[in-house]
Amino acid sequence: MNSWYKDFSEYMGEIFPGVKVQKLSIDAGFTCPNRDGSIGTGGCIYCNNASFTPSYCHPGDSIETQIEKGKAFFGRKYPEMKYLAYFQSYTNTFGKDTGSLLSLYRRAASVEGVAGIIIGTRPDCLPDSLLSGLADLNRDITVIVEIGAETSSDITLRLINRNHTWGRVEDAVTRLHAAEIRTGLHLIAGLPGESPEDVLSTVRKACALPIESIKMHQLQIVKGTPLLHLWEKGEISVWPFSPEEYLELCVRIVRTVPRHICIERFLASSPPDMVVMPRWGMKNYQFTNLLHNRLRGMQ
Ligand code: SF4
Repeated sequence: MNSWYKDFSEYMGEIFPGVKVQKLSIDAGFTCPNRDGSIGTGGCIYCNNASFTPSYCHPGDSIETQIEKGKAFFGRKYPEMKYLAYFQSYTNTFGKDTGSLLSLYRRAASVEGVAGIIIGTRPDCLPDSLLSGLADLNRDITVIVEIGAETSSDITLRLINRNHTWGRVEDAVTRLHAAEIRTGLHLIAGLPGESPEDVLSTVRKACALPIESIKMHQLQIVKGTPLLHLWEKGEISVWPFSPEEYLELCVRIVRTVPRHICIERFLASSPPDMVVMPRWGMKNYQFTNLLHNRLRGMQ
């Protein structure tokens, strides 16, 4: 807990008082409608799922096995720890009927030690029938939906081939809120054509919605993505954040986000051999320490 913003552990402490909670990523074999032609093809230009899938997570294993492996990975230090099953890879509300999706989530929820589930998805893959099932599930176990919003600019959303608008994000958040499901927005700082002011504009618009959390990170250009190709050819430019300038932006983000909304993180650190730029060589906790030192120095 800190005095400047609500971090993830404070947020979890509100939901699970006195309990240590750890997220466990699950790859349940979902695919992506922005790749298979259902919504779009080619995927979002920055996306390479391999850059954010942990090593203990194999889609060939059942979700129960993946959770048990995750528990073995994290549980040695804190045997009393509880877990959030995090459906992270691709679009975790797509490609199955509502009944199959809900039974998959319930399977994860019923593994011993699991206290909640987090479902990562797109704003255009949340039909009302699913929200109603999630609202039921949310009465038995904590459910959090994490929506990839990325930016509030429809121009940028087109440029990065997201194939949805900001209006879709607003609609999804509004319906999730009406269903009393906790919602987080995933945002990326420094998307092509965007300045730090554009990032702040997105953060302001996100915070005007009834959300519980935002999850930020700097744009990373990673191998195996159309973004790398376009950037190398000079067809797309991105804001050349230095760590110092990004730190300054995060200070402004902290001052923009109201205390009731959690800022889950500021930095992504994909495997170094996959990242082409920026190569800051910094872990999330190291950046957070720098940010806290800066905020402390400003008091
Ligand atoms: S970021 Fe999500 S929606 Fe975009 S291509 Fe990757 S998995 Fe699909």
